[in-house]
Amino acid sequence: MIDETLTMIPGPTPVHPRILAALARPTVSHVAPSFVEEFRTALVDLRTLCKSTSAQPFIIAGAGTLAMEVALVNVVSPGQKILVISHGYFGDRFAELAAAFGIQCDLLRSEWGLAVPPAEVAKRLDGGSYTAVTITHVDTSTGTASPVEAYCDLLRGRDELVILDGVCATGGIDERFDAWGIDVLLTGPQKAIGAPPGVALCLFSERAMERRRARSSVPAYYADILRWLPIMQDPGRYYSTPCVNEIIALGAALRIVHEEGLAARFARHDQIARAIRAGLEALGLTLFTAPDCRGATLSVVLLPEAIADAQFRKETAARGIVVAGGLGPIAGKAFRLGHMGNIGASEVVAALGAIEGSLRALGISLPSGAAVAAAAAFLPRA
Ligand code: PMP
Repeated sequence: MIDETLTMIPGPTPVHPRILAALARPTVSHVAPSFVEEFRTALVDLRTLCKSTSAQPFIIAGAGTLAMEVALVNVVSPGQKILVISHGYFGDRFAELAAAFGIQCDLLRSEWGLAVPPAEVAKRLDGGSYTAVTITHVDTSTGTASPVEAYCDLLRGRDELVILDGVCATGGIDERFDAWGIDVLLTGPQKAIGAPPGVALCLFSERAMERRRARSSVPAYYADILRWLPIMQDPGRYYSTPCVNEIIALGAALRIVHEEGLAARFARHDQIARAIRAGLEALGLTLFTAPDCRGATLSVVLLPEAIADAQFRKETAARGIVVAGGLGPIAGKAFRLGHMGNIGASEVVAALGAIEGSLRALGISLPSGAAVAAAAAFLPRA
């Protein structure tokens, strides 16, 4: 489309026109029967997406960070201790949240680009006493995917609650809330679910709900799940005005997710990740994340030393593709390319074409069309 840019950052991701149309509908009362029904359906569709039959879903106006806060403050009390497994910037955020609420924290960090081996988690669990363990499914700063199932196997039958941050995974990578024994899954709409930002999403297991009910109060008001529970059970009731349009848009995004089917959707994300990575490597670029722990939702890509990050991103933007810069120790040395949500083969081709053109404009000599040709082998309809 003329003058349109394609936002290929790791969130927010491109929003399908059907979802945008839902967002643009006239705002109705938060207790209008049509909205109440859509809210109710979105709650059920969220739970189905996360493969749970019994967890309590919450959809609250806010962002992913609010969802992290909701997850933590409702099940961990000040003075208690958590184990934070961190694969980067967003894993570390749990430690910052803990500090803000007087929660003690052991931070088990990997080197950037690697994942913490389950054996190290086992060692910490043997040596410590924790109320909860936090896992970031895919850390958006490093592209690292956690071996969630392996960590959960270690936690099965134990008292520590499992808190999973799915912000950069839910909707693009399989998450089996019930089968893995997750207690709190928190996530956001603006990445692999493909909706606009604006809501904090959480699922609480019965055990997690019990932990909250056992406490007379929590250091929160807006983020207290017991205040929200009546609304999530009957969305026609009022506590704090829900973001009507964002919830309708989320509902449209979840409908698309379920129309595609979860297995097909996760397979598409895998296929697109393979295609993009083949294309990037054909351009001589190196992926930052270790091969055995790359999340399918984004790629973190090292830039050739001769190329300045800001200049590179300016070149891709001039070609209609917005990519994100590196964070933390790889700031200025890498770019991050989101490939999740509502994207398909055309976006892959457009992004790779722009990256190739940008590298060439910045003095790297490359055979023409190399990236797209390498990617095409993984794209059935390219
Ligand atoms: N967790 C992860 C893994 C994220 O990628 C992000 C956002 N990039 C967050 C949490 C925080 O979400 P938000 O920016 O919506 O507050």
